[in-house]
Amino acid sequence: MCQQHPPDHQPSKSQDGTSSSSKQPFPWHLGACDAHCHPTDTMASIASIPSMRARALTIMATRSQDQHLVSSVANDLGVVRHRESLLSAHRDAPCAVIPSFGWHPWFSHQLYDDTTTTSTSTTTPPSSLTTYNPGDTTTATDEDLLAAKKAHYATVLTPSPDDQAFISSLPTPTSLSSFLSSTRSLLTSHPFALVGEIGLDKAFRLPRPWEEHHSNSRPDSAGANSLNPPSRDDTLTPGGREGRLLSPHRVRPHHQQAILSAQLRLAGDLGRPVSLHGVQAHGLLYDTVAACWKGHEREVVSRRKRRMDAAQAQGPEESDSEEDATETTEAGGKPFPPRICLHSFSGSVEVLKQWFHPSTPADIYVSFSTAINLGTDAGKSKLPEVIAEVPKDRILVESDLHRAGEDMDAALEDMYRMVCEIKGWGLEDGVRRIRENYETFIFG
Ligand SMILES: [Zn+2]
Repeated sequence: MCQQHPPDHQPSKSQDGTSSSSKQPFPWHLGACDAHCHPTDTMASIASIPSMRARALTIMATRSQDQHLVSSVANDLGVVRHRESLLSAHRDAPCAVIPSFGWHPWFSHQLYDDTTTTSTSTTTPPSSLTTYNPGDTTTATDEDLLAAKKAHYATVLTPSPDDQAFISSLPTPTSLSSFLSSTRSLLTSHPFALVGEIGLDKAFRLPRPWEEHHSNSRPDSAGANSLNPPSRDDTLTPGGREGRLLSPHRVRPHHQQAILSAQLRLAGDLGRPVSLHGVQAHGLLYDTVAACWKGHEREVVSRRKRRMDAAQAQGPEESDSEEDATETTEAGGKPFPPRICLHSFSGSVEVLKQWFHPSTPADIYVSFSTAINLGTDAGKSKLPEVIAEVPKDRILVESDLHRAGEDMDAALEDMYRMVCEIKGWGLEDGVRRIRENYETFIFG
């Protein structure tokens, strides 16, 4: 998920500027899958999913407004109930949907942490919020709620906001425990659903409220010639940034960690894979995830370690995932997720090596998108060496786009082509390999 909607994809041109038509046709029939995307941000695009050329979309939920949308889209388009249903899908089978339920770090301030088992818990629930019931207006007065919101947001945001209008514009926080409970229900009713999008983000700042934006851009409220978006785009699911200006306020990392850790535990308990977001927080993200598997690290066998060292010295390709996978595929009951996808991974090769240390008890996957990984010159320049470093059985491709349809297919195709080129794979071989990686990531 990116803070600004990427510009529309141009299917006629690939990333190196050459015409797609001059290239080998893309082998869609082999099953290209999208490991991470957000089409429920543009509900009108959902109708195009069955006719997409991709074999499967992994649709992320991120906030209060989209959990039920992801669930209903998965129900409407057919819940995938067996690995075989993807494996055996013929070339004309409609694109499948794998739902994913989670709370994104950009919205972590909207939850207060009322769990007691987390060591990173920072916020005590404001007393007015613990008794607040939106359906019962007698439980708290408006003043109580405003005071509670002020106390909560002062705790979880930095700098602490003192602007009354800004605080008023923020939603009344809801409890982490109730979110975990409803997410558990969704995961139970969707047997192959993931947990995501979850993670940490030190770069993100909260957008300014719409009201403030309006008054800035339309002081006379007639709004005839505002330069910025004059109002919400009703075709987009509420809650996103939608081009609003940014406030200076960020969510404190400690609070983000508490929200992330609770969801990692839920994923571990139910044995579900996760899709992980990390921006300008690679070390902290690793430390937070590693804390949940502390005491469960894999024992590194010396013979195996020698083999790994030798493989690393020669090249980056091989991992011992076949051997490892047998250790981690039994479902649930652990404090850490069995499989983790570092989505639109923007870290360095050194960060990658940390995740792929042989003692890591979860199976790590790494996914790349044109929207994020090719969005900046810095990202573009380091991408080849990072892709080269990812073990061949752990690489995935995603769009991270907010609208389903042809643009999503085109973005996937471009990244598939790029990965295949960097890995030295023929297109058919590469698409087949990545589909197998995707199936193992989703189904274990
Ligand atoms: Zn995303």
